[in-house]
Amino acid sequence: MTSDSLNQPLGANDMPRFGGHVSMMRLPVQADASGLDACFIGIPMDIGTSNRPGTRFGPRQIRAESCMLRPYNMATGAAPFEHLQVADIGDVAINTYDLKKSVDIVTEHYSEVLRHGCVPLTLGGDHTLTWPVLRAVAARHGPVALIHVDAHADINDAMFGEAVAHGTPFRRAWQDGLLQNDKVFQIGLRGTGYSREDFDWSRGQGWTVVQAEECWHKSLAPLIADIRQRIGDTPVYLSFDIDALDPAFAPGTGTVEIGGLTTVQALELVRGCAGLNLVGADLVEVSPPYDTTGNTALIGANLLYEMLCVLPGVAQRK
Ligand code: MN
Ligand code: MN
Repeated sequence: MTSDSLNQPLGANDMPRFGGHVSMMRLPVQADASGLDACFIGIPMDIGTSNRPGTRFGPRQIRAESCMLRPYNMATGAAPFEHLQVADIGDVAINTYDLKKSVDIVTEHYSEVLRHGCVPLTLGGDHTLTWPVLRAVAARHGPVALIHVDAHADINDAMFGEAVAHGTPFRRAWQDGLLQNDKVFQIGLRGTGYSREDFDWSRGQGWTVVQAEECWHKSLAPLIADIRQRIGDTPVYLSFDIDALDPAFAPGTGTVEIGGLTTVQALELVRGCAGLNLVGADLVEVSPPYDTTGNTALIGANLLYEMLCVLPGVAQRK
């Protein structure tokens, strides 16, 4: 396919940035993933949240804040729309009255997206969604490596007695055998716990936990370079919870913890995924009602663009 036939974001000289249809990066919208190398897809869900809700509005607000994004990555040289056919394929029609039904709807929907050979980049939505997405991803690619950036481990066995919740997705993924346990990396974990051992369950499975304090005051480029080495060419999924960032940068989320990553460190982590065999990624937990400036959704939109820029097939500047 020549780049003339590839979808391009609508330019600011064709329609003012604040006008037109609202899609991710002002890309064309289509109903399914046919013909696409990658897609943006929303999961407007917050019924898995434990504290402040509102992530059901995340996909729509991330799309709105993505209107300023231009096609070329000036830092890395990536030009994703010269290499990949990309579109916004809209939202998954979850059942907002039933979380258990919703996770099955998500898995079924993503199985269809993946059947087209399309890499899904997900606009969340609460973190519950990563488990059903991983079920579809592992059904296609086998157990995957995982890079999970978050303030929280999300490895609870149950919340309020429920197995499905936004604090349990990685426990469920582990239970279902969806992960390669020697290639799971949790970065940015912090805050208060229920016990001293809260993060040790992950370590006990062979996962690597990098707590936020180990990230303070330094570049994360060496960390992600090491992770790249350890993952090699194994299919890998990237799950990015916006609450990994410090609330000074990203206050618009449901379960805020102080002492988090900077936006620069977030960029280092995502850009450092270039060269990996990424088979899917998500950006979750943006809650617009708590995002008074829009900056949390804006950061989310930018990180999703950066994820697109590191997908296989997108050349980086030498
Ligand atoms: Mn999370
Ligand atoms: Mn979190």
